[in-house]
Amino acid sequence: MSIADNIKIVQEHIANACASVNRSPDNVQLIAVSKQKPVTAIFEALDAGLTHFGENRLEEAQTKIATINAARSQSPIWHMIGHIQSRKAKAIPPLFDIVHSIDRLKIAQKLSTIAQEKHLILPIFIEVNASGEQSKYGFPVKGWQEQPARKAAFYEAVQTISELPNLDIRGLMTMAPFYENVQETRPIFAEVAELRADLTETFALALPHLSMGMTNDYVVAIEEGATMVRIGRAIFGER
Ligand SMILES: *Cc1c(COP(=O)(O)O)cnc(C)c1O
Repeated sequence: MSIADNIKIVQEHIANACASVNRSPDNVQLIAVSKQKPVTAIFEALDAGLTHFGENRLEEAQTKIATINAARSQSPIWHMIGHIQSRKAKAIPPLFDIVHSIDRLKIAQKLSTIAQEKHLILPIFIEVNASGEQSKYGFPVKGWQEQPARKAAFYEAVQTISELPNLDIRGLMTMAPFYENVQETRPIFAEVAELRADLTETFALALPHLSMGMTNDYVVAIEEGATMVRIGRAIFGER
């Protein structure tokens, strides 16, 4: 199977998932996660028509993005999806167009300062940990509806981030744990979708996007409202 074939299959699955819940596939953006894959693979995906790519490590992304952008008259849209170390934040904009991994206040403050210095507006996602898994980054929001203190702490962080200059909060991002039975991811995605709805009401913030769903679970994520899916292995093969 070629990368182009894989992309066709993923796009079909996205279309079917959208149809099953009466959503338009135009409202689900596919982000091809090219981490640990060579630029040749990215060129194949570009030739198959994809325009959004996700990377999770700064150093690796720097060389790959430079190569790809130099070779194409129209640069793709680059999404940073991995944890960002504070001391490396300076290089994030304008290398990346969108940052999905705002997992703590400090990195939001840092990127706000850098975006001001560089005179640009940086679109961001606030990453939430809705499963409680220790290994996952993100603001802890598991069970937020029954946990007033946890909810209050998160809402205070969102308030603070929303007031930072030169950041444009586009929505929430989350990663579900790996489950043998993918249906077990459903309540996690649903909880994040409800959180977005509640935040929108509370802060009168437009939060158009939910970045959730990977190779294992993107169909369920779309059924629960994902508007951006980040897919690596189903497109580029195992890493
Ligand atoms: C690796 C990664 C993905 C893609 O995972 P696949 O299982 O390869 O689809 C999505 N999001 C994040 C944050 C990742 O690190």
